[in-house]
Amino acid sequence: MPDTNISYPLPTFLKSRARTRIVCTIGPATGTMTKIKRLIRSGMSVARLNLSHGHRNEHDQYVDIVRQASREMGVAIGILADLPGPKYRVGEMSEPEIKLTTGDSFSLQRTPCKGTTERANVWPQGLHKDIKKGAMILIDEGSIELKVEDINQEEIICRVTLGGSMKPNKAITAPGNTTTVDYFTDETSKALNWVASSDIDFVGLSYVRDGLDVDRVRKHLAVSGINPQLVAKIEIQQAVDNLQEILTESDAVMVARGDLGVELPFERVPAVQKRIIRMANEIGKPVITATQMMESMIDSPSPTRAEATDVYNAVRDGTDAIMLSAETSIGRHPFRAVQAMTKIAKRAERYLEYSMLADRRRHVASKGGLEVDDSIAHSAGVVAASLKAKAIIAFTESGSTAGRVASYRPITPLLALTTKFSAGAKLSLRWGVIPITVNHYDEIQAMFHAASDLALETKIAKVGDVVVTVVGLPIGIPGTTNLLRVITLPEPVRHK
Ligand code: PEP
Repeated sequence: MPDTNISYPLPTFLKSRARTRIVCTIGPATGTMTKIKRLIRSGMSVARLNLSHGHRNEHDQYVDIVRQASREMGVAIGILADLPGPKYRVGEMSEPEIKLTTGDSFSLQRTPCKGTTERANVWPQGLHKDIKKGAMILIDEGSIELKVEDINQEEIICRVTLGGSMKPNKAITAPGNTTTVDYFTDETSKALNWVASSDIDFVGLSYVRDGLDVDRVRKHLAVSGINPQLVAKIEIQQAVDNLQEILTESDAVMVARGDLGVELPFERVPAVQKRIIRMANEIGKPVITATQMMESMIDSPSPTRAEATDVYNAVRDGTDAIMLSAETSIGRHPFRAVQAMTKIAKRAERYLEYSMLADRRRHVASKGGLEVDDSIAHSAGVVAASLKAKAIIAFTESGSTAGRVASYRPITPLLALTTKFSAGAKLSLRWGVIPITVNHYDEIQAMFHAASDLALETKIAKVGDVVVTVVGLPIGIPGTTNLLRVITLPEPVRHK
């Protein structure tokens, strides 16, 4: 067999894992080597760090553990770090928790002050410019509601319309209103500095408003010499309005339903989710469906029927990835939550409308005239299905060939052979891709032999079976997907 990183029986691996990717937020419930390995065995493809919570040294530790576990197990796991983004928050308070009473007057102040039952500081500055009299303001995802009665340079005077418990640092939102605050808030800049000094594959951009926000973060990180994939979190109305340009500028998107359901009336969230998934599928970029997917499993050992249906429907709609937040970071049943997701996703994948999804993607890709790489990527799935091939084996330097093939949702298992383990981690959000690290090949015939040996020796195929290989020539130049070859196993040895 070619020299690979795989340390597991491939046929069992293919059977046991969902093709839909599972993103798990890491926290105190899962942040040890043993637990991370257990998450990987349960089906995790991407480990997520939420930089709005926890300390940097904890995150450093999680990165090291995920990298080590991933190498030891031979499973390429991506790391996603979510930036805080331009969000208004409650400032310091005189007590850890203060009760606001419905009907009372309450003031949000521009200058720092210790929060009381009458006032609190809102930071960063600028909220008074974003809203008008009569607007609704929510604290901590709607657990407190305020109505704006008056605004001046120093304060926003409100009436408490729904009382509740206020804690420092909690988010303040004004649903439907545009934030004018600069994307690079202090906490976002600090998080970006941490990203630049860490080993991160994906950066989650919270509260993006338009393509320019994405572009600015990309340029900022490029100055630090890094080029992670950017995942735009769609969680405010403005991002929904600018979806097309955000999709164009980013590498992937997330339906961040937690904040989306606060910023938009909750009854609009399902339709917006379906629209985001469809537009991402059409443009061929990965989409993550996130938040409250298995919420009850924070405490309970099995999901509600509604949660099972939610996961199932997201997969059937075409999501590339499904995400767990508190379920795996602080929940009581993190492994059961991942296993439950795996089972539901696998069941949904049986009924996925593979050719409809491929046609939809092809229709959009062909609008500007179908390119060679898209034609080959699409054809690989069609040829593999019609020949009942055992696998599509994509040789991929940067990951783009395998990603492109995946965007056409082939029903046939898709292996991505990369020469760098890190390229495999970057493919971890791509629906259905199994990255395998191999040696570098200088010669096309050596690649065909490697594909043939890999298929036979891992027992995913036997003599007489067919595999489809996809390659870019000349070898080693990324982005040139131009060769599709069908191999009836074994590839004959050349006699000199
Ligand atoms: C969300 O709002 O759904 C989300 C994923 O973001 P966060 O976890 O940062 O709130």
